[in-house]
This record gives sequence, C-alpha cells and structure tokens, in this order.
Amino acid sequence: MTETKLTFRDLGLSDKVLKALDDMGFEEPSPIQEHAIPKLLEGKDVIGQAQTGTGKTAAFAVPIIERLDPKVRSVQAMVLCPTRELAVQVAEEVQKIGKYARLKAIAIYGGQSIERQIRSLHFGVDVVIGTPGRVMDHMRRGTLNISGVKVVVLDEADEMLDMGFVEDIEFILTGTPAERQTLLFSATMPDEIKRLARRYMREPVHIQVSPQQMTVPQIEQFFYETRPAFKTEALCRILDMEDVDRGICFCRTKKGVDELVEGLQARGYLAEGIHGDMNQAQRTRVMNRFKEGGVELLVATDVAARGLDIQDVTHVFNFDIPQDPESYVHRIGRTGRAGRTGTAITLISAREFGQLRLIERVMKTRIQRRPLPSVMDVAEKQREQLKEKLIKVMDEGQLAMYKEMADELLDEYDPELLLAAALKMISGDDKSATPNQPAAVDFGDTGAEPGMVRLFINVGRQQMIQPADIVRSIASQAGIPGNIIGLINIYDRFTFVEVPKDVAQQVIQAMQESTIKGRTISIEPAKRR
Ligand code: AMP
Repeated sequence: MTETKLTFRDLGLSDKVLKALDDMGFEEPSPIQEHAIPKLLEGKDVIGQAQTGTGKTAAFAVPIIERLDPKVRSVQAMVLCPTRELAVQVAEEVQKIGKYARLKAIAIYGGQSIERQIRSLHFGVDVVIGTPGRVMDHMRRGTLNISGVKVVVLDEADEMLDMGFVEDIEFILTGTPAERQTLLFSATMPDEIKRLARRYMREPVHIQVSPQQMTVPQIEQFFYETRPAFKTEALCRILDMEDVDRGICFCRTKKGVDELVEGLQARGYLAEGIHGDMNQAQRTRVMNRFKEGGVELLVATDVAARGLDIQDVTHVFNFDIPQDPESYVHRIGRTGRAGRTGTAITLISAREFGQLRLIERVMKTRIQRRPLPSVMDVAEKQREQLKEKLIKVMDEGQLAMYKEMADELLDEYDPELLLAAALKMISGDDKSATPNQPAAVDFGDTGAEPGMVRLFINVGRQQMIQPADIVRSIASQAGIPGNIIGLINIYDRFTFVEVPKDVAQQVIQAMQESTIKGRTISIEPAKRR
C-alpha cells in the first residue's frame, strides 16, 4: 500500500466527525481507514483483513456515524465482538467519534447486569456493540430489536469463530434486514470466514493492509510487551538501560505526544514533542534544541516526523505500534543511517501481537522480544555508568591538583570509605543513585518467608489459574525476573504469592487492575491470620 497522504477531509467526512477525530488527536487516516471508509460510505459490503493496531475500529465507526439517521429512534447499527473488553473499547471509540453527532452507543456483554442493559436499550440507542451470546439473550427476551439495523459489523471474526460463536452469529444475522450493509473484519481468513462472507455478504470489497515485501536497513529490532497503563514507566526503564544519545519516539496521536512528553519531563528526561498542532516557530525551536543535543528524545507523530531531516539518531522507539508495516519501515529507517547501527524498540500490549507478527512477516525479519528491565536492572546499570564515568575522568588525567587533596585525605581516612563517598557525590546522590526506584515499603508480617512479602490475589483455581500464569504475569507486568518470585499457593478463589521485600511495592503497583487469564485482578499484601 502506498504511503498515506489523504486527509480525513479528503474522504468527504462531515464537520462533526472531523472535529471529533481532531479532538481525539488523529492527524490522518490509517491505510485501512483510507481504503475502507470511501467504500463503506458508498454503502458497499467490505471485508477488511486487519488486526488491532491498524485503526480498524474507526474504519467502520466513522462511516456508521456518517450514515446514521438522527430521526430514526431504533438501533441502526450493530457490532459483534468476541470479548467484553473489545466491546467496551469499540463502544468508547464509537462514542468519541460520534460526540458531536449526538449518537448513543452502548456495549452489551455477559457478566454485566442484564437489567441495566435492558434499561439503557429501553431509552433508545443508535449503535449496539455486543458479544454474540448476550445479544442473542436480549433478542430472545425481546429487549433488543434489530429489525431496523442498517449496518452489521463482525469485528475480529476469526476470534469469534474460534470461540464457537458461529451459530450465534448466523442466528443474529438472520434477525436483521436482508438489505443491510455487512462488514467483516478479521486478521486471518480461514475457510469458515469465507463461507460466512459468501452466505451473508453482497459482493464484498476485500481490503487488505498487507503490502508487498519490504526491506529494512540493518537495524537491531526489539520489542517489549507491557500493559497500556504501564507504558510510560516501561519506556523510562528502557531509556535508563539504553545508551540513547538521540532518539525519536513515535506516538499514534497528537494527544499521545503531549501526554508522553509531560510524563517524561515530570520524570526528569530531556524530552520534547512535535506535532501538527504546533506552529512553525515552535517546531523550529524544538528541532534546534534536538539537533544541538539539548533534547535527548524527540516525541512525534508520523505526520510531524515526515520530512524532518534528522541525522545520527541512535534509537527509534515505537511507543505505539505503527498502523501498517510500511510506516514501521519509515519510522525505523531514521536510525542506522550512514553505515551506523541503530536500534528500534517497539512497545506492544498483548492484543497487538498480531500486528507485530504482520510487520515481521511483511519485512521477513525477526523482532526480538526482550523482558522489561526490572528496577534492579536499572539500578545495576546506573552503578555501571557511575563506575565508567569515574574511570573516564581518571583516564583523561590532569588530576594533579586533586591528587594532592587525595594524598591529604588518604593520610587520615579509610580509602574505601573515601571512594564510596566520592561516588555518592558524583552520582548526584544527595538523594539516591536510583531516582526511579520506589522506596521499600514495610508491609509488616504478611506470613511470608524472611525477606519476602506475601501478596494476596483475588483469583484462584476456579479461574483455572496455574502457577505459571502467576509467574508470567508478575514477571512481565512488574518487570522482575521470574526466578525471584517465591512460594505460590493457589486456592479455590484466591492465590498467595511471595515476592522479595524490595520489589513488593513495585509488584503491587504494576499489577493493580491488570489481568491474569483475561480477568481483572486486585492484589494486596496478605494479612497474617
Ligand atoms: P484499532 O486498530 O481500531 O484497535 O486502533 C488502534 C488505536 O489506534 C486506537 O487507540 C485508536 O484510537 C487509534 N487510531 C485509530 N485511527 C487512528 C488514526 N487515524 N490516527 C491515530 N490514531 C488512530
């Protein structure tokens, strides 16, 4: 696919939708949006081969919103999703894009009180986003009338099939008008999906965001998996571990750029943002500071970075995974120029694995996984850097004046202690050598082994939790090595796990509201009975 140059305005969208997209910080359509939106506005059925991270949700949400009739008082569009998480996410995105169109979208899924959903449906909604089981439930109860639906979207269709929803989907589709517009989004196209498409879609247009093979320059490429809420912290740890002279960090939206810059600056990093809402003078100022080395990390959207001539970038960070393989190549091509090796680092959430694999396939390259550095790794690295700094000054010589002072001090004090104090001084550690390390918190006696803290997690055998799930989750979320996790006891409804005292607070913070096996968990220090 060619480089995206069209604007949302070029796609013929209404001012209401354009304004909402601008509020969301979207600068230009992603490839799937550029190709799908015009077809969908024409009323065509579309099969989109795209996964999370490509902008597929807005690709169908925008035309749905454009085509809604404000006078109609029944459900006009329905999106079927495999999971409750996705349904909620899609509903949020539809609601945001439809902000000025004053539409109402709700997510209906199993696990939430059906009465509440019935009440919402009763008051009238324009777009329903639901999991197939719950949608059928409402249809049977007569609380959801889909006989006036104009658009049906099957989102992540391959996952819905894997989860055994095919019969439900067919049942739901037959309850909608035959003249409806049908959209199907799927990362893969197994035969079962093709059969569904043949049966329920009319001359669908097939849109695939998988361009011809591309070649990449010699760049070391890594990825780190992290929870979305933990991303800024994860990036900081990576920055602490890498020797970044000058890096560019890409975010998906203008808003994302602003938020990340704020987060980084607050933590003391020399970061500045650049995006389409800034005027030329502001951009020039930032660019000059970057070129002069006063800014170590330039945070940018793809649009803003386009056309910038930046040399000698040691690192490219994809804070958000690019929406198509081509833009991955564009982004990382900014490092490793002129025969130098560069490093490209991508942060992904669990849901974005498919998008990462697609990039690897198209580029015929391997992007290596790296475990998130732990707080201890970062501290160790800082110690190493401190030693290197000292040795460098020693190698540079010109120490005559200080040597005299050293002799005087050595006459009186212990050399080891003296050196330790000097190190403390150069580390700037009138506070601490590890500024990002949270202070060790005393949790009292939690019943754990000496040196450990026992934590309580509210999932257990009933949720099919196994020790490996606990270790994997804690190690990846909190960025600590799995082998320092201690005793794990899994009971029917909860689990106890022991972690070293100095990382306990970090584990609690990182795991709060995270998920294990798809369940949102809560975690706290255990109470000694
Ligand atoms: P999706 O592939 O639909 O799950 O979208 C992935 C993420 O990209 C979501 O956070 C969207 O809000 C965001 N997104 C979608 N379209 C655009 C766009 N044109 N520009 C910037 N971000 C976008």
